[in-house]
Amino acid sequence: PRKQSSARSGDVVEIGGVRISHADRVMDEASGVTKRELAEYHELVGPLLLPYARKRPIALVRCPQGDAQQCFFQKHKLPGLGDEVKKARIAGNEVIYVESQRGILELVQFNAIEIHGWGATMDAPDKPDWIVIDLDPDTALEFSDVVEAALEVRDNLDRIGLASFVKTTGGKGLHVVVPLEPHAGWDSVKGFAQAIASAMAEQQPDRYVANMSKAKRKGRIFIDYLRNGQGATAVLPYSPRARPGATIAMPVEWKDIRRIDPKEFTVRSAERWLKKRKRDPWAELLTTRQRLPDLD
Ligand code: ATP
Ligand code: MN
Ligand code: MN
Repeated sequence: PRKQSSARSGDVVEIGGVRISHADRVMDEASGVTKRELAEYHELVGPLLLPYARKRPIALVRCPQGDAQQCFFQKHKLPGLGDEVKKARIAGNEVIYVESQRGILELVQFNAIEIHGWGATMDAPDKPDWIVIDLDPDTALEFSDVVEAALEVRDNLDRIGLASFVKTTGGKGLHVVVPLEPHAGWDSVKGFAQAIASAMAEQQPDRYVANMSKAKRKGRIFIDYLRNGQGATAVLPYSPRARPGATIAMPVEWKDIRRIDPKEFTVRSAERWLKKRKRDPWAELLTTRQRLPDLD
């Protein structure tokens, strides 16, 4: 059950045990979603988001003015971030992470809208626990084109014995996520993701590209495997986006992927969608035990 946010003074409220100031600040002009609504959203989805966010080095998109034009990416701890946001060093670089829902609400108080995560956790920062295949369509394409690409990625993974899961990004594309036992290193995992992308681009050069060059993307889908290097991030499931409408990244059942419209998943509509769904589409992700196949 959703707890009532108790008003204190002015637009300061306490939500999930965290003091949220400027609670009435509009964080997305298009929808009017406020900082308070963002905090209440995280109170609602915390139990769903936390298993993915927990102990995972994160990067934030912060919008201190509440204006999506003034947002920036942040990977380090700054004064003002709460105590539940921890910092550590990995290979000489500072990372931040949370272990609790309180930590996530402290990020909201810090005006973070988006939460992005590494492909590994603090338990084994050198060994990725998932692959993210980020499908980035050229603007001329329809969402249905991305859906067919995602299904093709799924089938290719299936053929080599790897289960995968899909989420909307809150934007134009989709992310196909392959859970891994933390076993292989970054180079192997990124190499594997690149091999999947390159094979698809080679077989269907009119539909897919596997390199960054913008010019080659015209009318095609960039199969972005670059989310899989150490320090690279992808938006976490259930993270809100700093995009018009306050959309969210939403896990979806493969069998429903042709039927959904990613724009319909928003901070405001989430509660309705979550009530409606029969089960967690990613229920098996956290318990799937699988490793990369031997490619030699
Ligand atoms: P879309 O479906 O619209 O592509 P997306 O989340 O996949 O949404 P991308 O532009 O493909 O967006 O970005 C992929 C990832 O790159 C992001 O999820 C994020 O983790 C990372 N990223 C985005 N902006 C930055 C940045 N300024 N610095 C570092 N990494 C970034
Ligand atoms: Mn993308
Ligand atoms: Mn991308």
